[in-house]
Amino acid sequence: MSSTPSKEVFSPFLTGITCKCPACGKGKLFSGYIDVQPVCSECGQDLKSIDSGDGPAVFVIFIVGFVVIALCFWVQLAFRPPFWLQLLIWIPAILGLSLGLLKPLKGVMIALHYKHITSQQEAENQADETQADKETPDT
Ligand SMILES: [Zn+2]
Repeated sequence: MSSTPSKEVFSPFLTGITCKCPACGKGKLFSGYIDVQPVCSECGQDLKSIDSGDGPAVFVIFIVGFVVIALCFWVQLAFRPPFWLQLLIWIPAILGLSLGLLKPLKGVMIALHYKHITSQQEAENQADETQADKETPDT
């Protein structure tokens, strides 16, 4: 049984949160705020084909919604501030948390997608090699 040497594996959470390339862990993942680089400047990995879809936005909505609603209820019950003060606190908090979490969560989703695509391709390649070994008659 032959095996191909596997690539160095980087943590998808570490490379995602630091917004680094999931293949090499060095190159920048984003060219703008959340625009993905077409190709990694360090290793040449095609990054544009790795699509995170709407996943990061959904996670941001759930995380920020849960945190802000819980804190909002707690502040209301504990301190009973006026309505304008609640708006003054929570609107910037929602904007800040959403914008702050979107980029690292998108990085994590892209890195996880890359990791699973790579492991799936390695499994398929190994299955093809095994199938080819079985089909080749021994002389
Ligand atoms: Zn790279």
